[in-house]
Amino acid sequence: MSSVSRAVSEKLARASWIRKMFEEGARLKAERGPGNVFDFTLGNPEVEPPAAVADSLRRLVDDEKRGQHAYMPNAGFPDVRAKLAEGLAAKTGLPYTANHVLMTVGAGGALNTVLKAMLDEGDEVIALAPFFVEYGFYVGNHGGKLVLVDTDEEFQLDLDKIAAAITPKTKAILLNSPNNPTGVIYSAESLRKLGALIDAQDQPINVISDEPYKALTFDGAVAPEVPSCIKRTIVATSWSKALALPGERIGYLAISPEIPEAKELFDASCFTLRTLGFVNAPALWQRVIAETGELTVDIAPYQEKRDIFYDGLTEIGYEAVKPGGSFYIFPKTPIPDDVEFVGMLQEEGILAVPGSGFGRKGYMRVTLTVPKDTIVRSMPGFRKVFEKVKGA
Ligand code: PLP
Repeated sequence: MSSVSRAVSEKLARASWIRKMFEEGARLKAERGPGNVFDFTLGNPEVEPPAAVADSLRRLVDDEKRGQHAYMPNAGFPDVRAKLAEGLAAKTGLPYTANHVLMTVGAGGALNTVLKAMLDEGDEVIALAPFFVEYGFYVGNHGGKLVLVDTDEEFQLDLDKIAAAITPKTKAILLNSPNNPTGVIYSAESLRKLGALIDAQDQPINVISDEPYKALTFDGAVAPEVPSCIKRTIVATSWSKALALPGERIGYLAISPEIPEAKELFDASCFTLRTLGFVNAPALWQRVIAETGELTVDIAPYQEKRDIFYDGLTEIGYEAVKPGGSFYIFPKTPIPDDVEFVGMLQEEGILAVPGSGFGRKGYMRVTLTVPKDTIVRSMPGFRKVFEKVKGA
């Protein structure tokens, strides 16, 4: 008899692809030496946070003001929230105040907090495939059901499919732009159309805009402000990627002032943030973010790696949508069976995650969070396997 619940045992048995590839990577590295394995599986920033982050942290640790480490309102320090609200108001033109912003334990904490506040047993949450696999677990944590809707060939919103997936049980639509795993940025026009679709419904449906990659865009592109396009937007985000701080677990939820029941949602989220056991986001990191949250890691090296990787793969013959942001490229596998193809890449010491793991067969995800040299040295392996399956 196991002490582990049936529900969790079942989820563990369907161990994620990323986890599987991680284990495969460890085995290959032990066998061949780490220099001969090209691991493109994890979206863990390989750069350090900007120096201003450590400077700010050092100053705050040395500050002898009393109460720096004490409990605070569940939503976080009011002055930090007011500062973030000011930034949001400037960017969106909407009247955000401290009472629309809750500091959270990363974007994952933000998503769980707001889903807990919104969902009753059996409620549905739409996510757009390919998608970040944790969404299924987060929605399931709170009794909800994840409903997957495919994006189009360019991984952009398919509004007809979204409209067809809405039922009386739909409570929310999860958006993620720039996207993991595809790297696409949703256009303002398509977001506005989605906003109109939501406004036309008889029931309230909120968009939860998961934005940890918002600042990581290429070629000077700016990801549209979702709350400016869709009235019912709740932003869930973090500095995990923008400041390379995923281990520090700092993020926020911002409930749009355009949502008529914003106060109710804010109060409910304060309660769920507390009762999920987060209680509040890390205190010192809230203060660091108030000083450095507008900064971003240097994007130029990511863009350079995107170019080398995308150009290299497409020159070989792989088909891919050029990512506008985030840490990922999501090329088509040259055979329909992505799991088989990823297995063949492994023979060359290349680790990628099959698209099936993100809800889209026939693709694979590779990350840019590796040294440039790893991408360059992996190209002959990508070529060899491509030519093998194409019979060249
Ligand atoms: N959402 C997406 C799309 C992600 O890729 C990630 C992390 O990889 C998260 C949310 C979770 O971010 P955090 O580490 O801030 O919880």
